[in-house]
Amino acid sequence: MTHRLAVAVEAPQYSGLGGLLDYLGGPLPPGSLVRAPLGRREVPGVVWDAPPADPAQAPLPDEALRPVAQVLSSLPPLSAAWRQLVAFTSAYYQRGLGEVALSVLPPELRKLDDEKLARRIAKLRKSAEKGATPDAGTAAESAETAKPAVPDAGLEPTLTEDQRAAVEAVTAGADSTFLLHGVTGSGKTEVYLQAAAHTLAQGRQALVLVPEINLTPQLEARFAERFRGRRLVSLHSGLTPAQRLKNWLLAHLGLADLVLGTRLAVFASLPRLGLIVVDEEHDPSYKQQEGARYSARDLAVYRGRLERAPVLLGSATPSLESWQRAQQGRYKRLDLAQRIGGGVLPEVRLVDMSLLPRTHGVTTALSPQLVDALRERLALGEQSLLFLNRRGYAPVLHCTECGWKSGCPHCSAWRVFHRSDRTLRCHHCGFTERVPRACPQCGNLDLQPLGRGTERLEEQIAEALPGARVARIDADTTRAAGALQERLAAVHAGEVDVLVGTQMIAKGHDFRRITLVAAVNPDSALFASDFRAPERLFALLMQAAGRAGRDASQAARSQMWLQTWHPTHPLYAALRRHDFERFAASQLAERESAGLPPYTHLALLRAEARTVEAATAFLEDAAARAGEFTEAAEVLIYPAVPPPVARVADVERMQMLLEAASRGALQRLLWQWMPVLYELRAAHKGLIRWAVDVDPLAI
Ligand code: ADP
Ligand code: ZN
Ligand code: ZN
Repeated sequence: MTHRLAVAVEAPQYSGLGGLLDYLGGPLPPGSLVRAPLGRREVPGVVWDAPPADPAQAPLPDEALRPVAQVLSSLPPLSAAWRQLVAFTSAYYQRGLGEVALSVLPPELRKLDDEKLARRIAKLRKSAEKGATPDAGTAAESAETAKPAVPDAGLEPTLTEDQRAAVEAVTAGADSTFLLHGVTGSGKTEVYLQAAAHTLAQGRQALVLVPEINLTPQLEARFAERFRGRRLVSLHSGLTPAQRLKNWLLAHLGLADLVLGTRLAVFASLPRLGLIVVDEEHDPSYKQQEGARYSARDLAVYRGRLERAPVLLGSATPSLESWQRAQQGRYKRLDLAQRIGGGVLPEVRLVDMSLLPRTHGVTTALSPQLVDALRERLALGEQSLLFLNRRGYAPVLHCTECGWKSGCPHCSAWRVFHRSDRTLRCHHCGFTERVPRACPQCGNLDLQPLGRGTERLEEQIAEALPGARVARIDADTTRAAGALQERLAAVHAGEVDVLVGTQMIAKGHDFRRITLVAAVNPDSALFASDFRAPERLFALLMQAAGRAGRDASQAARSQMWLQTWHPTHPLYAALRRHDFERFAASQLAERESAGLPPYTHLALLRAEARTVEAATAFLEDAAARAGEFTEAAEVLIYPAVPPPVARVADVERMQMLLEAASRGALQRLLWQWMPVLYELRAAHKGLIRWAVDVDPLAI
C-alpha cells in the first residue's frame, strides 16, 4: 500500500507556499527524516504535515509521483512544535520551508544512512544509561547522570531580594516573556542558573542562547559547575560536524538537560523544553545575515509561546524593541537594580579632544590625561583596557604630495594599512597587496598613514608607557586556533598591563583586575547613517564599562574614559549617569518622530549585479509589480539606493526599503510579492543575487 507524503526538501527553485513536494511511501509520521529523489539527485527531506487540499488545483495522480528513496527510521520524528517553528520562520522571513528545515539540522545528518544513524543513537542511549559522559563538545561531565532532582544545593548563593523576585516570576510564568534588566555584575546569570535549576528539577530541558561563540566557554563553565551530574551540551558553529551531530542528537533524544548555544541553537530539537534564556538579548549577532535572515531572539519569544515555556531575555541595555514591549506590558520587566556586593559602576570621564593642542596630521591621538591615568594604573599594578573599533595600523594610507589614497580597486572602500606585514588589505573583499614603495600616482616616496587602528594604538601605548606589558586582541592577532584563549588567559593571570583591542574585548569577559577602561574614538557612531548606531554604541560602552571594577574591592576606583569631540552629546550624558532608561526614552522618542522601528516595520529588498543599472532595474521592476497588489497601499516603498559600501569584489549592490505601520500588512505584501520576484529574477539576466531581509538590522 502506498501513501502520499508531503516532504520538505531543499528545492532548487521557489516551490511556492510551503515548499513541499509530494512523494509516495509507507505510512510515516510527520517529522520523519527521509531521502528523496529530486531530478537526478537524491536529497534529504523532512516529512511534513499534509497541506490542506487546494481546490484550485487538481492533485497529481499517484503515477506521476516518485517514491521516497530511504527512511531514517531510527531517528525519532521531529516534533509538531519544531515543525511549527520552522514553518513560522519560513513564512515570516520568506524562505523555502525545506531550505529552512534542512539548514537548521546538523549537516552530518544528511550523510548518514539509517544503519549508521541507528548505531550512533544506540551508543548515545547506552552511555546515557551507564551514566557515562558524552565527550568532546560537552562540558558537564559526571558519573551521576542518573541521579534525579536538584543536584546543586549548597552551591547556590543566597539570592538578593531582586533576584528572588525575578526567579519566582519566571518559574511561575509559563508562556510569558520576561525582560531581565540589570547592569553587568547585577546577578543576571545567577537568575538564569536558578531558573534553569527549577526547570531541570521539573524534568524539563533548558535552552540558553548567547550571542557569540567566544562567550560560550565562560558561561558553559559556570553552568557546568552548577549542574554537575546533569548533561549539558553546546551547539554552535565552532564544533566539528561530528560533535554538532552528537550534541544535537543528545538534545533531540531528550538525553541532554541543558543546551547552550549561539543563534542556530534556537532550532535545537528539545522534546521537554521548559525554559529559554537569551543572554545579551540586544546583541546584533542574534540576527542571521544570510539565507533565512532570522532573529534568534525573536524566534525564541515565538517558540516560548508555542511550547508554553517562559522566555527570559537578559541585558544591561535591552534592544529598543524589547524595551518598548516591556513598557507596553507585553513582556514582564524584571529589574536588578544594583551590582552584587554593592559594587558601584565605574566613574565615566570624558576627555574633550577639541581642547587638545592640534598635533600635525593626527586627529585621534591619545590624550595626555589618559596617558597619565594609564601610567598611574601601571604603577599600582592594575590593568587597563583600551578599545578602538578598527583593526590594522591605519584605515588609509595616503600620499603627502598628490593626495592619492589606498582605495580598493574592487570595492568602494579604503584598503587598510597593516604594518606588521606591510600590506594594504581590503576588509571587504580580502584583496591584499604589499605596500607600494612609492606613490602609484606621482612616485612620491612619502606615504603616510591616516587615522589609527589597534595595531598603531598598541605601538603608541608601548611608546608612551615604556616597560608596560601590552597585549592586543583583535581578529588579526587571534586568527590561529587557541590564540584568543591564550591571550585571555595571560590577561587573567596578570601577565598583561594594558590590553588593546577591538570590541571583541569589550563584551562579556570576566576580567578581574581591570580598573580602567577607555574608548579611544567612540564618536564615529554618533553621526552614522545607520539609525541603530547610537543604540549599539550605548550598549557597547555600557558593556565595556562593565569590564572595569568587577572585583568589588576595586570597584570604587574604577573608571571609564571616553575621548570625544562631542562631550555634550546627550548619549554621553546618559552614559555618565549609567542611565539606560533615559537614553532609551530619548531614542524611542526620536524613532517615533522619524517613523522608525519599533514604531514601524521594515523589510529590505537587496540586489547585486555587475552594474548599478542592472541592480536598479530589478528593484524598479519589483517596485512596479508590488504596486499591483492592494496591500501595497499600506506599505511605503522607497526608491532604490546604494548601501554604505556599495561595491564589494566588483559586485554592485543596491537596496530598496519597505516600510509599514503594521507588521501584518508588510507580511501580506511580501507573501504576494515573492512569487513575482522569482519570476522577475529569471527575466533579469544581469542580476547576480537578490534577497529579502525582514526586520533588517541596518538600512
Ligand atoms: P551578571 O550576569 O548580571 O553580570 P552575575 O550573575 O555574573 O551578574 O553576578 C556577578 C557576580 O556576583 C558573580 O561572580 C556571581 O557569582 C556573584 N553573585 C551573583 N548573585 C549573587 C548572590 N545572590 N550572592 C552572592 N554572589 C552573587
Ligand atoms: Zn602621490
Ligand atoms: Zn575590496
